[in-house]
Amino acid sequence: MRYNVSQLLKGHVGETRHYQLQNDIADLDPAIHPLTDLNGAVDMIRTNEGILVRANLYSTIELTCSRCLGAFAFPTRFQIEEEFHPTIDILSGAHLPQAQDTDTATLIDAQHTLDLTEIVRQDLTLALPLAPVCRNNCQGLCPVCGKNRNQEVCDHHDDDVDPRFAKLQALLDESKSHD
Ligand SMILES: [Zn+2]
Ligand SMILES: [Zn+2]
Repeated sequence: MRYNVSQLLKGHVGETRHYQLQNDIADLDPAIHPLTDLNGAVDMIRTNEGILVRANLYSTIELTCSRCLGAFAFPTRFQIEEEFHPTIDILSGAHLPQAQDTDTATLIDAQHTLDLTEIVRQDLTLALPLAPVCRNNCQGLCPVCGKNRNQEVCDHHDDDVDPRFAKLQALLDESKSHD
């Protein structure tokens, strides 16, 4: 996800480049398990200060259901809107001072390469649910015997719950009531 933006940096404010992105993101983040490439459209717009990147990206990620612990495919789409700043002046070659709090993920390097990788990783992470569920009516695991209630019927009813599991049951009931 690296783009040489030297021509765009030499351009006028408002000048735009349009790219179709298709990238293998298998190695993007050990916590993210993609089932497909990352795809989408990327616009780069020359601003006074640098380059504004607007992207609309999608992929399908494998998640683990927080109720039944089963793996499932989660199609996700997310937007990026981030201004990147050059570290070297494109015309003079001079080093450009950076603000103290500049996120290094949005710096264009000395070879005028704009690398989207870290911003994609951050925004994709934010696009994934914290407590994913494989389907709205996922029955989860039986709190007594641990069987997956989506696949198997067991003899336990919610009333049979061992008091030691009562707290877990209360949490499960609470999560169900939020559907
Ligand atoms: Zn589930
Ligand atoms: Zn059971």
